[in-house]
Amino acid sequence: MEAVYIALGSNLHQPKIQLDTAVKFIQRLPRSKFIAVSPYYCTDPVGPVGQKAYLNAVVRIESRLPPLELLYRMQRQENRQLRKRGVHWGPRTIDLDLLLYGQRIIRHRDLEVPHYAMTFRDFVLMPLLDVAPKSLIIPGYGRLDKLASDRSLGQD
Ligand code: ADP
Ligand code: MG
Repeated sequence: MEAVYIALGSNLHQPKIQLDTAVKFIQRLPRSKFIAVSPYYCTDPVGPVGQKAYLNAVVRIESRLPPLELLYRMQRQENRQLRKRGVHWGPRTIDLDLLLYGQRIIRHRDLEVPHYAMTFRDFVLMPLLDVAPKSLIIPGYGRLDKLASDRSLGQD
């Protein structure tokens, strides 16, 4: 089993329900063990103005699923949570990003791990700090607690 971290984000169609639904999906993943979910953070949208606030969280699991199989399962879940609302190619109600898979560095057409934005997006780093050990190493970037304190996040 390797430690895996997944970021969740939503700003449409009752974000809390979207996150709850995605967390349940993660809890039911095969060959995996649920460890923890962070609090849900209400965050300012990045990108175009006029968007609603986001709700963001990070889930920690342990898994034996091959990383690409996990990614494709996450993408199918994103599609399911869209389809329920009847939105086709509309704004996504849920975004599931694979942040870390153990200490692996993956460079695949469909999958980059560590996720490219995780080291500079506070709305990912904050919930990650809640569920990860402080000594967590982000491959290629160093310790999580160091990254966080450089950005003045966290308690220390
Ligand atoms: P974003 O998450 O940047 O807002 P999308 O969710 O639409 O944008 O991005 C989806 C694309 O990103 C997919 O084609 C997927 O294959 C690719 N991707 C690459 N690395 C990852 C990762 N670590 N987690 C999730 N998707 C990834
Ligand atoms: Mg995504």
